Amino acid sequence: MKASDFIHQLDEARIVAAITEAERRTSGEIRVFVSHRHRDKDTMERAKERFAKLGMAETRDRNAVLLYFAPRDQALAIVGDQGIHEKCGEEFWQAVTHELEEEFKRGNFSDAVVAAIGKTGELLARHFPIRPDDEDELPNAILRD
Ligand code: CA
Ligand code: CA
Repeated sequence: MKASDFIHQLDEARIVAAITEAERRTSGEIRVFVSHRHRDKDTMERAKERFAKLGMAETRDRNAVLLYFAPRDQALAIVGDQGIHEKCGEEFWQAVTHELEEEFKRGNFSDAVVAAIGKTGELLARHFPIRPDDEDELPNAILRD
């Protein structure tokens, strides 16, 4: 993935709409973060730090998911909170990560991110269906540094 392409081609409105749509069926919270920095540190570690910094470990059901992109490092990581880890294994996230990587190679940035949000939403809806008292605990947005 070319960093500049990724950053410029990401269709923010579509991605936010995809998050909103996914969260209509689950109490889980989905967020997208794009790091514009280049770091030597392991991407998963950076993603986990960011997850904590964004207060994503403070949802009621511990069921937030962060899709973390570091285009300058040509890397990405998906972090799910502990409630999600208790219910489903690593294979799902590995599969979503792999698909994203493949699509990025083809230059399908927004489509791939929207698809990944859809899949994440389906998984969350299965394990954490929407509840009548659901709140949007984390605003739907692409966050950046
Ligand atoms: Ca919610
Ligand atoms: Ca939300």
